[in-house]
Amino acid sequence: AAISVAIMLAACSGGRPATGSGEGSTDNKGALVGVAMPTKVSERWIADGNAVKSDLEKNGYKVDLEYANNDIPTQVQQVNTMITKGAKVLIVASIDGGSLTDQLDAAAKAGIKVISYDRLLTGDKNVDYYVSFDNYKVGVYQANSLLTGLGVLDASGNKTGAKGPFNIEVFAGSPDDNNATFFFNGAMDTLKPYIADGTLVVKSGQTAFNQVAILRWDPATAKARMQDLVAKSYSGGAAVQGVLSPYDGLSDGILSALEGAGYGSGGKKLPIITGQDAEVASVKQIIAGTQYSTIYKDTRQLANEAAKMANDILTGTKPEVNDTKSYDNKTKIVPSYLFQPVVVTKDNYQKVLIDSGYYKESDLK
Ligand code: BGC
Repeated sequence: AAISVAIMLAACSGGRPATGSGEGSTDNKGALVGVAMPTKVSERWIADGNAVKSDLEKNGYKVDLEYANNDIPTQVQQVNTMITKGAKVLIVASIDGGSLTDQLDAAAKAGIKVISYDRLLTGDKNVDYYVSFDNYKVGVYQANSLLTGLGVLDASGNKTGAKGPFNIEVFAGSPDDNNATFFFNGAMDTLKPYIADGTLVVKSGQTAFNQVAILRWDPATAKARMQDLVAKSYSGGAAVQGVLSPYDGLSDGILSALEGAGYGSGGKKLPIITGQDAEVASVKQIIAGTQYSTIYKDTRQLANEAAKMANDILTGTKPEVNDTKSYDNKTKIVPSYLFQPVVVTKDNYQKVLIDSGYYKESDLK
């Protein structure tokens, strides 16, 4: 019935017939858009959710914004409800990218279009668009900043000739988040030559993704792993000098483990440690000199692009994409719109984070 109404309306207004209830019909004014976010534990998803919601509302859409507390069944349930409530577009940042295939199938059947938000939905062809950052590059930037912090590269990215050897340990994100392997591969492709020539030494020997991945990006798990590494691989007096960490929350857990083991006092320097998301607490640590770097990804841009895609879909315009080769979700290559990440350190946080209006100076006090 929905389809025939849409076709009738299109015929009356002289427009082109709609291809489904979720696309191109004039009856999508004020339509419901479902926005599924993973968790409120990390600031970025709160900012993402709020920005997507307000951008959609500016265009007159109703929004059902839900957070799933990092619990997969909760997210499944939330997406089911969005479908039942008659959402016309779903914008989904998944917890486990492969856990929503039944929902994606149901959405396709109901003519609902799906935008995969920041994290790729995998294992199902009913994913229409993907909006994210260049996630491989995030990893490359994390590794480069680790090398710069250690003094192996200079500020322009040229080799200084420093040969170390520097002791590093590496961490990765959640194995069920497609981004985690992209970050890890970008970083390890960059670090491997230095591990191979002995400039960098991973004393634990743990360099495979499955050895270093932290389920659900949980800071406490990262802290426990760092404590374990210190106890098992650094008890003989050697110090950890660098840590590749893919996310600010993990960096926080790792730093806390290291501080607990006496790093950062009594002449025992904290290692160079990376991060991601430019979370307030981590930017403060960067200013204080405890965390070395983070990766800034402007969530306002991302949210705005997702809302724009939804609006395009609902008004019968083809959403713009800028990448049609990078993101294979195991059933198809998902047309993507990707933004560029930026490395933030003490030297440029002012320009990147404050001058851009992302944070106010007072947020970082
Ligand atoms: C996001 C990162 C974030 C991580 C943990 C990833 O999917 O791309 O920005 O740090 O999840 O929330």
